[in-house]
Amino acid sequence: MSPDDRLAGASRATLVLDEAAGGELVTGAVRDVSASAFFLSVEQPPAVGIEGRFELSNASGIVLETGAFRIVLSQPGVGVGVEILHLSADSFRPPSVSLEPRALAAGAEAVRVPTLLHGKDLEDVFAIGIDLGTSNTCAAVDEDGTPRLLTTREGERMLPSILSLLDDGQLVIGRAAARRAVLYPERTVYGSKRLLGRPYDPEVAREMQGHFAYPLVETKGQVFGAALGSRKLSMQEVARQLLAGVRASAESQLGRSVEYAVITVPAHFGESQRAAIRAAARGAGLTVLRLLAEPTAAAIAYGHERDERTRLVVFDLGGGTFDLTLLDVTRGRFEVVATGGDLFLGGLDLDDSLAGLLLERFERDLRVSLEPTPQQVARLREVAEKCKLDLSVQPKTSAQLSHFAEVEGRPVDLSLTITREELEGLAEPLLERMLTITSGVLDGQGVRPQDVDDVVLVGGMTRMPAVQARVEAYFGRRPNLRMHPDEAVALGAARAARAGRGHQLVDVLPLSIGVATRGRRFLRLLSRNTQVPVSREFVLPRSEGAPDEERVPLFQGERPDASANEYLGSLVVSGMPAGAPGGIALTLHLDAESVLSASAAMAEGGAPLTVSLDRQRSVEHVLAELGEYDGPSYEKPPVPPRSALARAFDRFRSLLGR
Ligand code: AMP
Repeated sequence: MSPDDRLAGASRATLVLDEAAGGELVTGAVRDVSASAFFLSVEQPPAVGIEGRFELSNASGIVLETGAFRIVLSQPGVGVGVEILHLSADSFRPPSVSLEPRALAAGAEAVRVPTLLHGKDLEDVFAIGIDLGTSNTCAAVDEDGTPRLLTTREGERMLPSILSLLDDGQLVIGRAAARRAVLYPERTVYGSKRLLGRPYDPEVAREMQGHFAYPLVETKGQVFGAALGSRKLSMQEVARQLLAGVRASAESQLGRSVEYAVITVPAHFGESQRAAIRAAARGAGLTVLRLLAEPTAAAIAYGHERDERTRLVVFDLGGGTFDLTLLDVTRGRFEVVATGGDLFLGGLDLDDSLAGLLLERFERDLRVSLEPTPQQVARLREVAEKCKLDLSVQPKTSAQLSHFAEVEGRPVDLSLTITREELEGLAEPLLERMLTITSGVLDGQGVRPQDVDDVVLVGGMTRMPAVQARVEAYFGRRPNLRMHPDEAVALGAARAARAGRGHQLVDVLPLSIGVATRGRRFLRLLSRNTQVPVSREFVLPRSEGAPDEERVPLFQGERPDASANEYLGSLVVSGMPAGAPGGIALTLHLDAESVLSASAAMAEGGAPLTVSLDRQRSVEHVLAELGEYDGPSYEKPPVPPRSALARAFDRFRSLLGR
């Protein structure tokens, strides 16, 4: 991309005049921006010849470019002509800042280089697009400029993201696995994406167990997995099996080998989850060309051929997750402005609530108290989802389960009527949370609902009339229903997989990355919604007699208590010359897909140091060294909704003594 393209969206500039000219800060609106000059409107313009540093940003306040300038024209009351001497060159590295919040806030500055889809020349690579969804997985290909969906071996457009273990030890995926969910719920894994790549934590496991019929366990690498009989599978292995299945059916359908893919991920997936998807793909024989945020993929499918900027909101509510993304789209350029979401907000939660309600009614009507078996739980979930789908098109429906339970030795059917109103009552907390996240993302950017040009709905749950009504009420406009909610993401990924021809994608870091300091306080180093790629340098101060190895525990999230965020691992910096004074300059780099890397050097003299990532030491160990949390109090993250069904399930589990 040329600098001209990169700067097309610039609307404001900040000039920092050289010390000799008073070091003053001048800011104003810009026009006629090119890679060599721009015009800045200011009442009291600096004089011709003054030099300094500048920063160009877009309407959202996102910095597009930094560099050095010289004033070449000055008109009092009008503005100045500014000649660009260099663009964001290394010579304008940010000043070293110490790892203290005040200094960070004041000093950290980024070198941002919005990139094309791929750095390498991948014109000849053939790739497919894959939407690895919580409920369903979809693949698509774009061979001639029109993306189309690939079908599964069973000829369906969507592969249920489900895996089941057969008695003979074989694993099956997709529809065959889904069919086993009711009879063999404890051997059938669904919703695995919710825990993919997440570090295992016994407390979270206890909290989450009610959502899953199969036992959650810790697997190799201290991550979440499922215990199916005596076999333990990590969620990454489940993803690998699904991706291998998609790859095999794509190959047989296309009659050629498929080695590359663009795979979509929820926009707010953190580092560990992204790494898990990459590893799963590798294991399935696929090279990931790019991990693309699902809403960005939907925006690509939406397309935009006009030259003027469209401010787009992609509202993605699926089976397991909710994602809200604000993008600026201008002919072939997709720039993520901000994103937010919840990994535990989706259709499955509503299914659970409805299943719980059905169970309660059944118990009340028959004046019994059941300890539901896993099969009964699975049947309740299945019928609850069916009722939910019915209620998207009709005001009332009935839940029917023949021979649901034995009461006083006789088989009894479950037969209950559910209205749309009742379902909407259950959905209320989910709808509330969805809108809280939405306004959080918009407010964070100073964008009002009426500033949004179009709202695109994707994800199966957006078919629910109450979801559409809430979105319409919030934005004051009818949402755009033009796109197929289940297919848009895969189709967009397929478009992007066509070697990114003509697309420029600019993404943001979905969740802040920072370090845990004493008192377990989380100190942000790279803030969420920072455009990527980005590099930042920090100085770790070192005292006399410091150890010859420095450990930097990295976490990702937004909470002031580091332990409430996700532990990424500890950077271990070593190789400091014995007795050498001075701090360590640590550089964090995020590539265009928010993948983090780090390097280090002595702050003075620049002698390179060695950096490695340690994930062996457990997070408990790391936190213990930092002491108890002593920061300001804050609201604890909301616990995912616990339905009556989940509680019933816990009861059942405790009976079995698990
Ligand atoms: P996705 O993860 O995008 O595949 O979305 C799947 C979720 O959408 C599941 O929870 C489905 O139950 C839900 N869903 C699909 N169709 C409908 C519908 N017509 N009404 C309500 N929810 C739906």
